Amino acid sequence: MTLIEKARRGKITSEMRGVAKKEQVSLEFLRDNISKGRIVIPKNRYRKIKHICGIGKGLSTKINANIGTSPQKANIKNELKKVKEALKAGADTIMDLSCGGNIPRIRQAILKESAVPLGTVPIYEAIVEGIKKHKELRKIDKEIFFDVIERQAEDGVDFMTIHAGVTRKAISKLRRQGRVTGIVSRGGAFIVEWMMGQKKENPFYTEFDRLLEIARRYDITLSLGDGLRPGSISDATDAAQVQELITLGELAVRARKKGVQVIIEGPGHLPLDHIEANVKLEKKVCKGAPFYVLGPLVTDIAPGHDHLVSAIGGTLAAFHGADFLCFVTPAEHLRLPDLSDIREGVIASRIAAHAADIAKGLKRALRLDREMSTCRYRRDWKGQMRLAIDPQKVKAMRSGEKDVDICTMCGPYCSMKRMEKIFGK
Ligand code: SF4
Repeated sequence: MTLIEKARRGKITSEMRGVAKKEQVSLEFLRDNISKGRIVIPKNRYRKIKHICGIGKGLSTKINANIGTSPQKANIKNELKKVKEALKAGADTIMDLSCGGNIPRIRQAILKESAVPLGTVPIYEAIVEGIKKHKELRKIDKEIFFDVIERQAEDGVDFMTIHAGVTRKAISKLRRQGRVTGIVSRGGAFIVEWMMGQKKENPFYTEFDRLLEIARRYDITLSLGDGLRPGSISDATDAAQVQELITLGELAVRARKKGVQVIIEGPGHLPLDHIEANVKLEKKVCKGAPFYVLGPLVTDIAPGHDHLVSAIGGTLAAFHGADFLCFVTPAEHLRLPDLSDIREGVIASRIAAHAADIAKGLKRALRLDREMSTCRYRRDWKGQMRLAIDPQKVKAMRSGEKDVDICTMCGPYCSMKRMEKIFGK
């Protein structure tokens, strides 16, 4: 039985207990929403995860950090350092997007290192392996796609991005309407090139039941990818993107019926005024499935600062109901992120997630802010470090400060200290 099937039969698992305790929600609330597909707990049945997490309705907003090699930079040790950095900064999940070097070895090493759920995009490895074997992308035998999924499942991957909604119908819509940035999803671009070359429908769509069989066997959560997500503000919320979402909604229903947990992936680049509609549409069309947004990036003109651009979009998306934010680093659109980029990206996303959780009224989030304010009023720097999203930065900034009871911002005119004298602690 898979987790969703257990939930439907009223069973409470150790994973459910762990998540309910962490989130301070009742077991019945959690079980009921897992059974309806509104909450997922990504975990391969054969993997042990130290820090599991629940994603979805009524839970705190989760954030994912992407790591992984490229053909130009493929060093396992470096990827393991990235895992450590992402975990230290507070990532809830990690995705290995490696497409260079020995991909299976890199994944297996990351799986050992990662104390949180691990996701992948299997088509990356399939394409790299397929091109080696068949020379050209368009000639790859689709069996390789399914073989790689099976192998990654055996390794213990907890959730997988599969671009099953990129259909010929959606591509023809994209062609007719035109786009500034075409297809920016790497997986989406791969599958479209394969479909065009073979003149066939997307095999993940036509053989979706086969995919579900594998996912069911390992209890893998499917993250239905948005291969046609907009890659620029000009392309936001167009017909191709919406067509793909409608297909993903149909596939999500089929997955749940087969006992497979599903997340839906979303944009991408969106102006602020499109965000609420995108979240509401996903929730309606996909019957409340957790929404995993890649950003959203609310402007195209801030390369080098896209972690901030995406934190603005992520805050609004999470406030309106998105459940899971994929981080964006300052290196986005420019190069492979390094350790410092990973850290910056995780912190920016965590700020976005927490800001949304406060506005959604999550008790734990509100309590943390109240405690921080109390420490601030008392000039309790240790307390502020303990509660801060980024204690490392607080510590570094305070390290040069000599006076323990005030800071160099206002010095003797410290309003907190003066008010404490009048109003007390
Ligand atoms: S000196 Fe100013 S900025 Fe620093 S703690 Fe006091 S009120 Fe806050």
